[in-house]
Amino acid sequence: MNDMTSGRARAHIDLAALRANVAALRAKAPGAAFMAVVKADAYGHGMVPCARAALEAGATWLGVATPEEALALRAAGVGGRVLCWLWTPGGPWRACVEAGVDVTVSAHWALTEVTAAAREAGRPARVQLKVDAGLGRNGAQPAQWPGLTAAARAAEQAGLIQVTGVWAHFSCADEPGHPSITRELQVFRTALEQAADAGLEPEVRHIANSPGTLTLPESHFDLVRPGVAMYGISPVPQVGGPADFGLRPVMTLAARLASVKAVPGGHGVSYGHHYVTPGPTTLALVPVGYADGVPRHASGAGPVLVAGKWRTVAGRVAMDQFVVDLGGDSAEPGDEAVLFGPGDRGEPTAEDWARACGTIAYEIVTRVGSRVPRVYGGV
Ligand SMILES: *Cc1c(COP(=O)(O)O)cnc(C)c1O
Repeated sequence: MNDMTSGRARAHIDLAALRANVAALRAKAPGAAFMAVVKADAYGHGMVPCARAALEAGATWLGVATPEEALALRAAGVGGRVLCWLWTPGGPWRACVEAGVDVTVSAHWALTEVTAAAREAGRPARVQLKVDAGLGRNGAQPAQWPGLTAAARAAEQAGLIQVTGVWAHFSCADEPGHPSITRELQVFRTALEQAADAGLEPEVRHIANSPGTLTLPESHFDLVRPGVAMYGISPVPQVGGPADFGLRPVMTLAARLASVKAVPGGHGVSYGHHYVTPGPTTLALVPVGYADGVPRHASGAGPVLVAGKWRTVAGRVAMDQFVVDLGGDSAEPGDEAVLFGPGDRGEPTAEDWARACGTIAYEIVTRVGSRVPRVYGGV
């Protein structure tokens, strides 16, 4: 299924695995609605096909960061409720109100802008209020929360908005047992009580990301918002890999060798000659580079399956290509090089790349560049 017979490189996206991951995650939070987080082009997997697959598997909400992402889902005719949360002054509030997108408000300026847009659109905006439970990014500070909820309730009574949700985001849920977790849950519960005291009756209250969904049942509330786990990547690799949570990686990144050639010992490889062949050997050229999302930090470190064995990136990753040393082994131009995949055909995983590059697997899949075609399987 993943074998390539033409083309330079591709990211194979296994939508059957994605649907199965959604089912596995829903089983962990059976009482909660499921928001499939498809921001950042579904973590590099392709937003629209992944959103559709998640809805088929029982998600009823889609979560994205930016309003532009929300509008792109609507423009593609994708159904389901859509929540977006990363706004800057100026909107596009009105377009989102008209598209029936649920928008997040963390501060008074945003409430002012969204109520104005609702007035112009002639229909109420669906608003979710966000509290900063401790992450220190967006969300109203607890001191501002009673004022924000009261103002939102007033706008609701004026018919300008409908408060559909109240939510927050964890800071350290990927470190089970971290003391911030119970503290942030408590801040969130208090914020929910204050919202109720203000007269708000949100449809959904939510805080759980992937680690919350998998490891913290008390964080599930009315809805869970998994992202990375839906793509089959463990959000807590120190606790367990994907299979330990019933998940399977969705993306396989592969390329076809552009060159295979014999070189003498002492031959420098790639910019800066940070690798020099230890003896006569065969070099294979893998035609993907940092423009395709292969981190330059993988220079001399990234693993890749070529000719049946793991090889290590020899020397620097360049913009469009990198080299591996095949030692005594042979290969042909056009042979497949698998950078990462589910791992069960002997290939490395995105987690292996993350470890090699000093990052997280989220970043490995999300950065795969637009020059790499996504090819969908399990449709
Ligand atoms: C990205 C994001 C998520 C999903 O996080 P994962 O760790 O990938 O599950 C959930 N909620 C918000 C607000 C996010 O920004």
